[in-house]
Amino acid sequence: MGESEGQKPGSRGVSRRALLIGGGVAAAGTAVLARDDLGRLWWRMPGVVKRRKEGEVDAKGAQWTAASDYNWRRADRPDDYGIDRVIIHVVQGGYATALRVFKDPSHGAATHYVVRKDGHVAQMIRELDVAFHAGNRGYNERSVGIEHEGFVDDKSSFTDAMYASSARLTAGICERYDIPVDREHIIGHVEVPGTDHTDPGPHWDWDRYIRLVRAARAAPRKATEKARAQGAG
Ligand SMILES: [Zn+2]
Repeated sequence: MGESEGQKPGSRGVSRRALLIGGGVAAAGTAVLARDDLGRLWWRMPGVVKRRKEGEVDAKGAQWTAASDYNWRRADRPDDYGIDRVIIHVVQGGYATALRVFKDPSHGAATHYVVRKDGHVAQMIRELDVAFHAGNRGYNERSVGIEHEGFVDDKSSFTDAMYASSARLTAGICERYDIPVDREHIIGHVEVPGTDHTDPGPHWDWDRYIRLVRAARAAPRKATEKARAQGAG
């Protein structure tokens, strides 16, 4: 389950944006950095707002249902914060419960996506934005969070349809942000530094999941190659 940012004073994430801005200003003042370094910093400055359309989703086939504004914050990823991780959660409850609490402004947490047992996917927060789900500000800023309905101690929570659908979702995220498909970049909430959460728990089949993500990640490419071989462009 997601949790609020839980930021401890002085920890790394807190000053990341401040450092970015501070770094740019310092560089402009002293002209220490090479021109293209400056350019790169400038490009990474927050504040460039991308156009958004109500109800728009990042993952094909996902159904939009908005989380409360209090459970995420507006950002401009991947330009202000690079996205290099997918974080896997388990709700400790049902799909409807997850949607209800993520729409509740007092909950203080939500993930970008919620996956139901039958494979249905809800998107509640745009990937552009920072969802409060990892309990670690730096990890929130550079990850996409996916909840799965069910319970960590109940293996039957994790159905074939859920694994397949979630793997396609993660493969799409990895493709959009060029994230390697491995256990360093696709992690459980339990692996986030500083968390006391245990999800997705011992019954989540990581080998199977990574295998499915790799297959899904390769699939569109295979289709394109095949089309090319057949002269279809
Ligand atoms: Zn969690």
